[in-house]
Amino acid sequence: MDREEDGLFQAYSILCLPVNASNSDVKQKYKELALKYHPDKLPPDVSDEERKQALSTFVSIEEAYHLLSDPAARDQYNTVNKAKLLTQDYPISEEIDLSDMLYDESEGVYTTTCRCGGQYTITEDDLTSGIDLTCCDVCSLTIRVLYQHNQYSDNGVT
Ligand SMILES: [Zn+2]
Repeated sequence: MDREEDGLFQAYSILCLPVNASNSDVKQKYKELALKYHPDKLPPDVSDEERKQALSTFVSIEEAYHLLSDPAARDQYNTVNKAKLLTQDYPISEEIDLSDMLYDESEGVYTTTCRCGGQYTITEDDLTSGIDLTCCDVCSLTIRVLYQHNQYSDNGVT
């Protein structure tokens, strides 16, 4: 199955960033990647095929950056992708209990590591609005977070 073309939150995967990355994270990662894939920065001995690949990666990086560095566009992108995540019938690779996830109290987010080394992130806001699916920030796997909906909205998870 190929979700590369229209993967959810793909702009984030392209920049290797979590969905909750800060603006300066976006900027920094973009600089780093743009430098790495810039057509002028390639060694002279790369093949035409590699050059073409690098160019298309570079273009994706540019596009992702333009989208994510514009707060309004980014907000809308997140909303659309979250809605897609909820309505589309993606296969769930795993179900993870909320209590098995790492809780970051200052950020109000739960995270867990994907088998690819990437990270799944779900925010308290997601949970209170009934969202229980989240996708990896690196690969295209999706997990379902198991938690008691009514329990959560009472006074948080212990
Ligand atoms: Zn992954």
